[in-house]
Amino acid sequence: MTARFAIAGSGPAGCYLADALARAAPGAVIDVFERLDEPFGLVRFGVAPDHEATRAITRVLRRPFDKGVARLHLGVEVGRDISLAFLRRDYDAVALATGAPVNRRLGVPGEELAEPSGRFIRWINGHPEAAPPAHLAGAGRAVVIGAGNVALDAVRLLAKHREIGCLNPLALERIDLLIRGGPEDVRFTPSELVEIGELAVAWPQLDAFDDATGEAAALLKEFAARPSGQGIPIRFHFRTRATAFLGAGRLETVETNRGALPADLAVTCIGYEKASVDGIHPTGPEIEPGLYAAGWAARGPNGTIPTNRTEARTLAQRMVARVGREPSSTA
Ligand SMILES: Cc1cc2nc3c(=O)[nH]c(=O)nc-3n(C[C@H](O)[C@H](O)[C@H](O)COP(=O)(O)OP(=O)(O)OC[C@H]3O[C@@H](n4cnc5c(N)ncnc54)[C@H](O)[C@@H]3O)c2cc1C
Repeated sequence: MTARFAIAGSGPAGCYLADALARAAPGAVIDVFERLDEPFGLVRFGVAPDHEATRAITRVLRRPFDKGVARLHLGVEVGRDISLAFLRRDYDAVALATGAPVNRRLGVPGEELAEPSGRFIRWINGHPEAAPPAHLAGAGRAVVIGAGNVALDAVRLLAKHREIGCLNPLALERIDLLIRGGPEDVRFTPSELVEIGELAVAWPQLDAFDDATGEAAALLKEFAARPSGQGIPIRFHFRTRATAFLGAGRLETVETNRGALPADLAVTCIGYEKASVDGIHPTGPEIEPGLYAAGWAARGPNGTIPTNRTEARTLAQRMVARVGREPSSTA
């Protein structure tokens, strides 16, 4: 009998899984349901617009649909337009590849005056559900909070605001980057840091330090040794936590454990959390017999796009091997 697989979500995890299932079970029915009218998840709405080479990976992600080995159903949200129980009855196995769409919160007073990175970066990328930040016009000082690549993406895009249509109304003169730990704790990848160091419109401003090891820390040390540059200073503040966002109706100040910073815009880049689908909260690659999870829905918000491909191959093998050996539905 022809095996039937359903996947919720068409980000890298869903697309790589569809491809891997088609290879592991040639001739199987593979249906991918995507809640938005556009596919490819964060590759379309998260990856920075100036990272064209990374965004071009959509050419790979679309292959199973172009080849006709899987079907893509856009504008269908599992849990709203079609129930998980229905899918589990109608398919031999179902996988949630629904990402980690919830912005993590700092939990400090006035946080509603700050932009969570999920919304901010989605808005820059034209996501249909992301509202523009309020009070963008003329904003001269931005604070970015975070120690990972999304924070560096936000800093870089803000620095290049003159080149990015929707950010044109900004008039940034300074960007402050708040990092909770020290230089040894950052999760920046070296290539993203190198891009900051090569910006023509901005320059990294750091105090010298000498007690950290690792490739990222070495680059930060090299930044600290540079003379002042041209354009917008990007001030790195280590061991600095935002403790409150203050302002009357709009942001005016970010309070930190080391003092107050004037700010017209603040972007929090502190991670994401998974969401439940039809009452099921994905906990790992195998949730229940016949119900699986892939990508960020399985593992949480970490790893790069290729990580999803490697994992999809392993998961597809497991799903195919189990079809026929276990009931697909507990509904
Ligand atoms: C701002 C940002 C920038 C990044 N930049 C890079 C980068 O440059 N390079 C890199 O390697 N990695 C990058 N990453 C990481 C990369 O995007 C992730 O590894 C990858 O997107 C995770 O894939 P996923 O399919 O699990 O989740 P997602 O890409 O989030 O895809 C989930 C999909 O599921 C859909 N969905 C959700 N719920 C439902 C539902 N109930 N029914 C149907 N569909 C649903 C969503 O609409 C979405 O299309 C970035 C991440 C972020 C947040």
